[in-house]
Amino acid sequence: MDASFDCLIFDLDDTLYPFNTGISAACKKNIEDFLVEKCGFPVTQASILRTELFKTYGSTLAGLRALGYDIHEDDYHGFVHGRLPYDRLKQDIQLRHLLLSIPQRKIIFTNSDMNHATEVLGRLGLQNCFEKIICFETMNPNLCGGLIKHSQTRANEFPVLLKPSMDAMRIAIDVADVDPRRTLFLDDNAHNIAAGKAAGLRTVLVGKLVKNIEPDYVVETVHNLSLEIPEIWVNAKLDNGDGMIHQNRNDVDSILMKTAIGA
Ligand SMILES: [Mg+2]
Repeated sequence: MDASFDCLIFDLDDTLYPFNTGISAACKKNIEDFLVEKCGFPVTQASILRTELFKTYGSTLAGLRALGYDIHEDDYHGFVHGRLPYDRLKQDIQLRHLLLSIPQRKIIFTNSDMNHATEVLGRLGLQNCFEKIICFETMNPNLCGGLIKHSQTRANEFPVLLKPSMDAMRIAIDVADVDPRRTLFLDDNAHNIAAGKAAGLRTVLVGKLVKNIEPDYVVETVHNLSLEIPEIWVNAKLDNGDGMIHQNRNDVDSILMKTAIGA
């Protein structure tokens, strides 16, 4: 199989920083508070409901709107992300160096809104490492200041599109303007990986391998990319205007050395 790639598409949360920062747990708690305080669900059902909506619709917001709740996305994101403990995310110089050493195009693909994505990337010190951010607003232009206003619609007429829906995957591939067969898609969520595979992307599950999912690669953390998927660098083809450049093993060894010492 041709192991070369033109582009790497990264999920954001729990992919570019570890699951145990407390951000993910705080986000879940905020979502459950939203279900109770804004939607009137009993406290005892909030956790189960959040899990079921996430499994079925990709997010609580998508699920609530599919069920007919006319939740405004700005209210939801403001509530859920507005009080996250972002100070727990620290500058990750090692990851920044690793990302900047990757010769191919790099794009973020997250279900979060743009505010959250830019806040997280800023806290991690990863601004300017990515060509573009594909996020909630990209997948749902009709809900975000586009032609259609909430007041003119029933909530379930315009469902929220998010990973792992195939429509969301197609939008991302289209907006990123990539050939999925030459694109590496990295995500910590097994459902998203399965959708990415179905969309023809080459997939990297970040974290632990789970049953019934067969990603092309598994890495415990994105920090291990150069060790686990050196072909990103080895087979990179860069057009510098006068032809194709192929990086060789020496270039990769130099990157491995730099990232290993946290340069
Ligand atoms: Mg994630």
